[in-house]
Amino acid sequence: MRIRVVGGGLAGPEAALTAARHGCDVDLYEMRAMVDGKPRLTPAHQTTDFGELVCSNSLKSESPNTAPWLLKQEMRRAGSALLKIADKTAVPAGHALAVDRVEFSRMISEAIAAEPHIRVVREEVVSLAPDPAYALTILATGPLTSDSLSREIERLTGSGHLAFYDSISPIVDAESIDMNRVYMAARWDKGTADYINCPMNREEFDVFLDALLAAEAAEAKEWEKLDYFEGCLPIEVLARRGRDTLRFGPMKPVGLRDPRTGKTPWAVVQLRKENVRADSYNLVGFQNHLKFGEQARVLRLIPGLENAHFLRYGQIHRNTYIQAPLLLDECLRLKTRVPPISPLRPESSDHPILFAGQLSGVEGYTESIATGMLAGFYAAAIVRGEEPVPVPRPTALGSLVHYITHADPKNFQPANITFDLLEPLEEELRKKVRDKKERHRIVCERALAAFDAWWGAIPHPLRNFAH
Ligand SMILES: Cc1cc2nc3c(=O)[nH]c(=O)nc-3n(C[C@H](O)[C@H](O)[C@H](O)COP(=O)(O)OP(=O)(O)OC[C@H]3O[C@@H](n4cnc5c(N)ncnc54)[C@H](O)[C@@H]3O)c2cc1C
Repeated sequence: MRIRVVGGGLAGPEAALTAARHGCDVDLYEMRAMVDGKPRLTPAHQTTDFGELVCSNSLKSESPNTAPWLLKQEMRRAGSALLKIADKTAVPAGHALAVDRVEFSRMISEAIAAEPHIRVVREEVVSLAPDPAYALTILATGPLTSDSLSREIERLTGSGHLAFYDSISPIVDAESIDMNRVYMAARWDKGTADYINCPMNREEFDVFLDALLAAEAAEAKEWEKLDYFEGCLPIEVLARRGRDTLRFGPMKPVGLRDPRTGKTPWAVVQLRKENVRADSYNLVGFQNHLKFGEQARVLRLIPGLENAHFLRYGQIHRNTYIQAPLLLDECLRLKTRVPPISPLRPESSDHPILFAGQLSGVEGYTESIATGMLAGFYAAAIVRGEEPVPVPRPTALGSLVHYITHADPKNFQPANITFDLLEPLEEELRKKVRDKKERHRIVCERALAAFDAWWGAIPHPLRNFAH
């Protein structure tokens, strides 16, 4: 029985090569193709090549004991095919792993062509109806999944479980918030006082608003120009609607009396915990489309955030991704059974569908390759009749999957790998080790030990795949 992999970007080729190297026969579908001498592309891709990097050529940091480094180290230990190619095609880029994009794509195409277990099909997949030719399907069609397939995924997952753009609020490192300038409170004192509130007087608000109105927007490509939902407008768009619009929207002060003064501020920015450890907070309702440098400048005008260290900036861009926390298990499998195609064919099917890459709810080149690699492993195990063993939580790979499968579904946004997603040190150790770099080093050491234990315990032939 063959495996169907849909998508020839980053996650798809990695999944196909991984599964093939475990002896599985794979059909790799890619809709980009030469048709009548002309390339048929997506709005972001410029070639029909496998593994095209659509924007920057960086696979992020190689500095030891950073989260992107850790993820890549685990992938190297697992023998990631695309990462090996990235290493071979690296160009000098300081502490980052950057690649020669043309060589990178060429070598991926070469590896696929040289793999006897992979058959390439240059076709758009529009139906996910169970096909007896396939044991399972891996969907890796990325942020620009074709319209027909998007409709089919919605049919499978239920409406409302597929998002079409990211609307990301900035995230700030808790340690960089000046707690003397802010206060904890819940609006109208309902529930526990979990929010950090950054109060502004009228003068501070005016300065902030003027800076926001003058800030430079990130450039949007023609196809990225979005019709924003009214309920999710960027702050700069709201600001342009009137000087008070933000004070009746995300900066609404009502019900947020400052306990220190007994007064309600003119405007308030609320920060919500990103995780239970409360070591990072997002600026509620502050999605925006400003250049990152501009965001840093404007957002540091917010009282309490003068020295803020931003872990993530706000963004709004086109992106197709599923509600992974509701839909996927820890082996990236769709939890629900494939529903019947029509009332005339009422049988449903046990045909497993795995998701990988940007469509599964991760963000970034390396994260897409990483989930492609995992999907390839899991698919190979399923085809062999085994129950796949999920990569453990303390690893970077496991943390990424843990995030997409356990995040709050209501506020789910795709994420890059950061320390924020990794398991924190125990409270006692945290208190003992004050130096952040040292804490990160310990987390990395623990992650790699957990990875090695998982890898070492996986039955043959997976183990032989390394290096
Ligand atoms: C404009 C843009 C810029 C980005 N820039 C960066 C960046 O600089 N750095 C970064 O880390 N991340 C970036 N990303 C995010 C992400 O890392 C990339 O999109 C990455 O390529 C995702 O990998 P993927 O394999 O999930 O999807 P893709 O690489 O997009 O691959 C999906 C493939 O599926 C094919 N496909 C779609 N529908 C079908 C279908 N129905 N049948 C068959 N094939 C189909 C597509 O043609 C495509 O080749 C960017 C995303 C976008 C949209």
